[in-house]
Amino acid sequence: MPYIAGDTLIRHAWQQGYAIGAFSAHNAETVLAILEAAEAEQSPVMIQIGQKVINTLGMRPMKALVDAWLDRVTVPVCVHLDHSRSFEQTMEAVRCGFQSVMFDGSHLPFDENVRITHAVAEVAHALHIGCEGEIGKIGGVEDEIDVAEEDALITGCDEALAFVQATGVDYLAVSIGTAHGLYKKTPRLAFDRLAEIREVVQRPVVLHGGSGVPDDQVRRAIRLGVAKVNVDTELRQAFTEGMAAVLADDPQEYALAVSLGGGREAMRRKVQEKIRLFGSQGQAGHFTGE
Ligand SMILES: [Zn+2]
Repeated sequence: MPYIAGDTLIRHAWQQGYAIGAFSAHNAETVLAILEAAEAEQSPVMIQIGQKVINTLGMRPMKALVDAWLDRVTVPVCVHLDHSRSFEQTMEAVRCGFQSVMFDGSHLPFDENVRITHAVAEVAHALHIGCEGEIGKIGGVEDEIDVAEEDALITGCDEALAFVQATGVDYLAVSIGTAHGLYKKTPRLAFDRLAEIREVVQRPVVLHGGSGVPDDQVRRAIRLGVAKVNVDTELRQAFTEGMAAVLADDPQEYALAVSLGGGREAMRRKVQEKIRLFGSQGQAGHFTGE
């Protein structure tokens, strides 16, 4: 199975009531962990390339890693650019052959966010790849946001509709009470708002900051129109703990294949767990015609 366009994946998930996991990759072992988990679960999958790894290893080498191992899997795979802050970078991802790009202009004035997101969406659609935009600011837990501020950050229905109509994005990241990073207290998602947004925008919604959201809330969000769930923090945690377990066992284990292998194995299990939570296991056959 070759690469698949992000909008094809997400639309099917949205229509069928499950979600695609968008899992962040940070090195060779994390790419393999995601691919192996998806294959084991026969699940379509998104591999996200984020800003941190682009700054360290680079965008093109990360895409090349996925390219190199694509023949190991039979399931549909989509490489997605996460939280890009520039038009130029989204175009670089397009040139690298990504099947989905996100321009995040949520920090910009509304009109400016619309202008750039629309330009990205035009190119994405001309090339038949998926495009994600963001409206409403998704905080980081390190931001120390209090409850009143939290409410102020929740995406409004009118702005969501205006944004989707003006930009033509395929899927929309909204702020409904999640944050990036590890939560200090259990988050409570704004389900009423999510339901309203789904009703007015009639488009798949993306849940950012999925790590640490209780499973029942994730399932409920998927029932209310979330069709892409981003997972990063929990995967990095699993990888680090897997590696730490190897080193705790033998502090002089200097074979990186062994210590990194422990991380890869722990992360593969976590990705499989998430795939089942999102309900995408066994859905690969729909795309491969099996
Ligand atoms: Zn995010």
